[in-house]
Amino acid sequence: MTIWSTLRKKATLKNVIGLLIFLLLLAYIAARIIVPTALDKKLNTVLSPSPYTASEEAKKLYQSLTFVSDLHSDVLLWDRDISKRHQHGHEDIPRMIESNMALQAFTIVNKVPQGLNFDKNTGDSDQLTLPFILQGRPIKSWFNLPDRVIAQSSSLDSFAEESNGNLTVIRSQQDLNNYVLRRQSNPKITAAFLGIEGAQALEGNIDNLKLVYDAGVRMIGLTHFYDNEVGGSAHGVERGGITEFGKRLISQMETMSVFVDISHASPKLINDVLEIAIKPILVSHSGVKGTCDNVRNLSDEHLKGIAATGGVVGIAMFEKAICGKTAKEIAQAIIYTSNLIGARHVALGSDFDGAIATVFDVTGLVQIVDELLKQGMSKQDIRLVMGENVKRVLLENLPNE
Ligand SMILES: [Zn+2]
Repeated sequence: MTIWSTLRKKATLKNVIGLLIFLLLLAYIAARIIVPTALDKKLNTVLSPSPYTASEEAKKLYQSLTFVSDLHSDVLLWDRDISKRHQHGHEDIPRMIESNMALQAFTIVNKVPQGLNFDKNTGDSDQLTLPFILQGRPIKSWFNLPDRVIAQSSSLDSFAEESNGNLTVIRSQQDLNNYVLRRQSNPKITAAFLGIEGAQALEGNIDNLKLVYDAGVRMIGLTHFYDNEVGGSAHGVERGGITEFGKRLISQMETMSVFVDISHASPKLINDVLEIAIKPILVSHSGVKGTCDNVRNLSDEHLKGIAATGGVVGIAMFEKAICGKTAKEIAQAIIYTSNLIGARHVALGSDFDGAIATVFDVTGLVQIVDELLKQGMSKQDIRLVMGENVKRVLLENLPNE
């Protein structure tokens, strides 16, 4: 073989590798542009499009509400610029402002098993790696759960910074007090506080609590779709009670004024948490067995236990939570829970943008008020449920810093 043919072969190999890299890059760019938005549109659907109708009485009452709040939205998971109004998904800053939303909890989804079974999942698989790669998130967050929290909290901070005061991130009692005062003279603003959906994000390391606290997290859902280091999930395999790490975590969370959220927790875990909790428990998004009996929804006994801590139950708005597809079933769950434990302990917990279909997007919340009026709830109780309860519990229990 001459030196020339060796060189030619090397050059050809180099060209082939170069071409392959180029094609891979092209495929990534195409997938980066197409897949994340297609997934967002496919998974976060609205059953009836806006604009939404309601009775004049309901519209008037809704517009008079000074603090509408919702305890659960997964919007930060998606590749959606929430500073702009979109035709898909459930919310963004313009739609939140249009809907008179004062405070939305943005809950950070950080690991989701394949299949997302309602009845049984292990934590062996992870459906979020590929979406995080295709969304062009920081490389650290592709495989690391605490970094997925940081990635989503950072994007919230960026949206707030670039919003010209339209979106405020609430981290303390003072933040909320200042915001409420500011909103009295300008109701065309909105706010968010951060939660985590599933404490597997801490990877069994108590030091990670400080990390996520510094990133702004003020509420942690103990479990999501599988049993984790803290305890059992309603959709797990063992569905056990609290672990030693879980006990340490709750004690530390209460010291740091981070809310415990027991949505998705197994019944045994809820029993254990209610036994040791000394601060109000939140349920960011759940249904109740009294109107829709399944493994995920709360029993009367658990509802009473949560109320006894001074906590608040956010009623979710997807079919599995309420056994229905309309505002009527959302209102039924709200009224059932209010009759059982008092309207002071009930709130909205939509699960907007949680890979679900909802009756309406955030601009349709007036339809819940309409149904609550029809089903006989007092205007005072409606005010509490639509957001005043969340405001009260947060003002009393967020960090005082
Ligand atoms: Zn959830």
